[in-house]
Amino acid sequence: MMAAIEAGKNNKKVLVLEHNSEIGHKILISGGGRCNFTNIYASPENYISSNPHFIRSAFSEYTPSDFISLVEKYDIEYYEKKLGQIFCRKSSKQIINLLIDEAELYNVEIKTSTKVNDVNKLEDCYEVLTDNGYNISNKLVIACGGLSFPKKGATDLGYRIAKKFNHKIIATYPALVPFVLPVPQMKKLSELSGISFDSNISLIFNNKPRSKNKKINFSENVLITHKGMSGPAILQISSYWQKGDNLKIKIEPNLDIEKLLEDNSKSNKELRLLLADLVSQRFADYLCYELNIHKPINQLSKKDKVKIIDLINNFIVTPIETEGYAKAEVTIGGVDTKELNQKTMESLKHKGLYFIGEVVDVTGWLGGYNFQWAWSSGYVCGKSIS
Ligand SMILES: Cc1cc2nc3c(=O)[nH]c(=O)nc-3n(C[C@H](O)[C@H](O)[C@H](O)COP(=O)(O)OP(=O)(O)OC[C@H]3O[C@@H](n4cnc5c(N)ncnc54)[C@H](O)[C@@H]3O)c2cc1C
Repeated sequence: MMAAIEAGKNNKKVLVLEHNSEIGHKILISGGGRCNFTNIYASPENYISSNPHFIRSAFSEYTPSDFISLVEKYDIEYYEKKLGQIFCRKSSKQIINLLIDEAELYNVEIKTSTKVNDVNKLEDCYEVLTDNGYNISNKLVIACGGLSFPKKGATDLGYRIAKKFNHKIIATYPALVPFVLPVPQMKKLSELSGISFDSNISLIFNNKPRSKNKKINFSENVLITHKGMSGPAILQISSYWQKGDNLKIKIEPNLDIEKLLEDNSKSNKELRLLLADLVSQRFADYLCYELNIHKPINQLSKKDKVKIIDLINNFIVTPIETEGYAKAEVTIGGVDTKELNQKTMESLKHKGLYFIGEVVDVTGWLGGYNFQWAWSSGYVCGKSIS
């Protein structure tokens, strides 16, 4: 839609093809219905890609402030929730309406309920085969997203087209996705389903060598689910997780457990009640059960205290898998940026063919980064079509 609007501004005849009955199904469900449409701090560090610096050019042309200005043009109320994450105050639908209204302004035609099945290159143009016949165009923009959330319309079309045109695909994985824990651990944790706590979460890598072994950690909420773990901290770390990696969780990182035990060393309060000052009572009971320590604080041995501090500061979890594309907000990997022009998103192999948004090997953190990439890459692409 962004690319279509910009190309429309250049007086190009633009047709958007969408197989759902409306555009923007992911926008609608994003941000809990309030679309976290950008992040004011978006920079290459917040993106996972074989070349995170690829985004620099598009981001310098079209910034989070540029999209915010567009939102203001349509009088859409917005607010910063936290960490630079900008949400609609009312509804995600407003962002969809904004895109439709802008498109209309520049005579962009939108054909919904039209599934694209294949693309062919003819002599000097592209032929797009759909369920409703075919279309011919000398410029073709592939903006059909990743594999995540197939029930909202995601397909592998973008990757299929890229492969057909000899583009390299960086291996794809579900990302920003909840984890499934092993059954024995889940048996113990499942009663805590629905409980959340603050955390600092990092990865203990398995033994496989990693090219970028830099320390990755996130300080956000963890949510215990009936299958394993979710919540912002878990979703963020999932983008870096590989099978065999452990999660190292510091529970309630703003509280110093060592000091808390010290300050209460003379208290006859039960440990489970003291821990309930940190986390919910149900979670505190689980921690005491894991520790097998059921006594008042003034009766804790030195060894007990070491065990308690270690469990709170180094709670180790080994996920067996993620919940997959069905529950992943995004898809890591995609069309290799090395084969795209960073200023226009045009294929370096096929003139007039462009790839933008999530289908490209650029994946943002949780927090508005993915939409900003969609806006920025769409903008530079559409603008270059003149
Ligand atoms: C639950 C959820 C919540 C999210 N929340 C946020 C958030 O708050 N902030 C954020 O920044 N990001 C969020 N994201 C990620 C964000 O939605 C995507 O990164 C973004 O939508 C990618 O834009 P895109 O235009 O590349 O692809 P998409 O938005 O996926 O659009 C691609 C379109 O192509 C259509 N299509 C696919 N195949 C075909 C075909 N064969 N024929 C015709 N049409 C086809 C699809 O139906 C779809 O409408 C969320 C994702 C999910 C799943």
